[in-house]
Amino acid sequence: MNAISRLRAATFNSMRVRLTLWYTGVLALILIIFAVSLYFYLARATRQRTDDALLDTANSFASSFNSELGDESHTGNDAAKEAAQGFRFRDQQIIVFDSQRRVVLTSNPGGFPEGNEWFTLPAAKAPLDELTNSASRTGTSYKTFFTGHRAIRAVAILMPASRESYTLLIATPLQNQEQTLESAREAFSVAIPLALLIAGLGGYFLARKSLAPVVTMGEQAARIGASNLNERIPVPENNSELGRLARIFNDLLARLDESFAQQRRFMADASHELRTPVAVVCGESEVALSQPLREETEYRESLTIVNDEGQRLTRMVEDLFTLARADAGEYPLVVADFYLDESVNECVRSVRSLAVQKDLEILYEAPVKEIAFRGDEPLVRRMVLNLLHNAIKYTPKGGQVRVSVKERQRHCEVVVSDTGPGIPAAAQPHVFDRFFRVDKARSRDESLNGSGAGLGLSIAKWVAELHGGSIALAQSDSTGATFVISLPQQG
Ligand code: ADP
Repeated sequence: MNAISRLRAATFNSMRVRLTLWYTGVLALILIIFAVSLYFYLARATRQRTDDALLDTANSFASSFNSELGDESHTGNDAAKEAAQGFRFRDQQIIVFDSQRRVVLTSNPGGFPEGNEWFTLPAAKAPLDELTNSASRTGTSYKTFFTGHRAIRAVAILMPASRESYTLLIATPLQNQEQTLESAREAFSVAIPLALLIAGLGGYFLARKSLAPVVTMGEQAARIGASNLNERIPVPENNSELGRLARIFNDLLARLDESFAQQRRFMADASHELRTPVAVVCGESEVALSQPLREETEYRESLTIVNDEGQRLTRMVEDLFTLARADAGEYPLVVADFYLDESVNECVRSVRSLAVQKDLEILYEAPVKEIAFRGDEPLVRRMVLNLLHNAIKYTPKGGQVRVSVKERQRHCEVVVSDTGPGIPAAAQPHVFDRFFRVDKARSRDESLNGSGAGLGLSIAKWVAELHGGSIALAQSDSTGATFVISLPQQG
């Protein structure tokens, strides 16, 4: 596309040009309809006036003719001539025919006076014959005909007399009427384009003025990118549609800004968390390699540390991957029917040996009857295991972990409580936040599955919400902590 066609496309795609074109187009249509109607009305009224004048003359002539015929000595021809004495109009031609279609009288034999020969009998023979024929049938008849370029209107009436019938014809040029209509046409052809030009210009400036805020908003919006998402577009002061649009756009920017900030925090926290195990792996391997030969036990020790950190890294990356897919709404769910109490019981069984290692008592309280549930079983297990791992990790030796599944009216509950130190009041609102840990050192319990990066409860919260439920820290003090998962019962 070259520059000119780009410019043309931009001009015609511009909203203000299109608005103006629409507006002017509609106005043009209205004006043309109005002008055409007015013109036809004017033409009809003018013709009616001409016809009325012709008929008036014809009737007056006919009554003079009749009164002249009352004189016994007058023949029809004489009566016509006598009557014609009083009817010498500049712009009306009177012709009287007898019953044999012979011209008895013509008021201006050579046309109209002053050599203005707009009408001669031979030239108009055909239309006049037609008119007189029609008048002899109907009594009165009108006709418009042309001689040269001139339009002529004529009326013919039948004048019955005792001896024979005469036909009277009155003709008049339509020159004046045509001039009037011509003037009307001229007036319209000047006034309509002028009105459209003024309306178009006015419409364009109005459109430009009312769309100016959109242009400003667009320019500002074009300047906003990922690096300056905190900027906002100007909101027009009035409460117009544009004001609402600007506010909606600003709200969207605020949400995007918040989400970007969250992403940045997540990235920063994640890389920070990954740094520690990577540093341990590097440090340990460097130490092992720093001397040409070491004892086997030393190598084993180093490799054990590297292996532990490698496993921690794997778990952390897995947790991060889960949360990233959860955020993107791309986690592949495997929804199936299963018994919730059975799943929870299996989770308890799988961590029993860990509890025993720490000299903890773990108790499971089953519901009165089994609870059928529909959801992603592996995710539900992961959520329960995260709570169990925390309870085992933070409860000191000799403590107790209790797990129960209960059926309430419309939902079911999984309750995990322990006799650990609980969570300090100040930390309680943040326990479900990503990367939040009350005590970093305590979180890194090697014996447990969690990554210790503070993601376990965030994942548990996501799983509960994914199933339409919730998770809460129901109680926490120095006697222990109680977490309650509440899930809506399907079906
Ligand atoms: P982590 O991987 O560190 O266990 P979590 O998200 O599972 O991360 O837990 C966040 C923080 O909440 C933990 O660091 C811990 O301080 C606290 N916490 C969680 N569960 C318990 C519990 N049962 N008793 C005491 N503190 C807990």
